[in-house]
Amino acid sequence: MDVRTNIEAIKSNIQRACKKAGRDPSEVTIMAVTKTIPVERIKEAIACGIKVIGENRVQELVKKYPLIGGDVKWHMIGHLQVNKVKYIVDKVELIHSLDSVKLAQEIDKRAKAIGKRQNVLIEINIGGEDTKYGIKPEELGDFIKQIEGFENLCVQGLMTVAPIVTAPEDVRPYFKKMKQLYDELKDMKSRIIDARYLSMGMTSDYVVAVEEGANIVRIGTGIFGPRNYDK
Ligand SMILES: *Cc1c(COP(=O)(O)O)cnc(C)c1O
Repeated sequence: MDVRTNIEAIKSNIQRACKKAGRDPSEVTIMAVTKTIPVERIKEAIACGIKVIGENRVQELVKKYPLIGGDVKWHMIGHLQVNKVKYIVDKVELIHSLDSVKLAQEIDKRAKAIGKRQNVLIEINIGGEDTKYGIKPEELGDFIKQIEGFENLCVQGLMTVAPIVTAPEDVRPYFKKMKQLYDELKDMKSRIIDARYLSMGMTSDYVVAVEEGANIVRIGTGIFGPRNYDK
């Protein structure tokens, strides 16, 4: 399947999910996850209307960034090491993977240095899995208090990578919990919060995620096909 056909299929699936949930499909942003994908194929997706690109690794983002240009927004979605923040703060619109106070401190510092307020999402480990990054749902309130003083950060919402399940329906309770937590975030009074994004749903589970309230879905395989890690 080519990229255009894939994107059209995803759009119609999202439309259906929105209809079912009584939502407006224009609220949902399709991010193309471009890890391991060559620049020419990424440009193909952009030609089909993709406006947000998500990369996992700093090195890859930095390499592709000048080759693709500014017609798209760049999001960092992978685990971010503190010592690599300096390479991306001037490039990314949104960092989805804030998961520690140390990282928040460094992003704040680097953003301040270039006169920017960096938008971030807090990554939540919604399944409580040892293998996943993110803070625990019950720690969100405390976490906000700890980062509240960082003036060059703006918390725009939450992100999660849901547990891998066998039946698609099994993931729904996690997404429901995320939506609840997102609504709690919206109600928290803090100068650092301007909640507008709930980033959840990948190729295998984005339909359920949209039904449950996601407004950014992060799709790699569903757009570009299987990744070839040997390239
Ligand atoms: C790779 C990745 C995705 C996309 O995964 P697919 O299953 O290929 O759609 C989404 N989010 C994150 C954080 C990823 O690392």
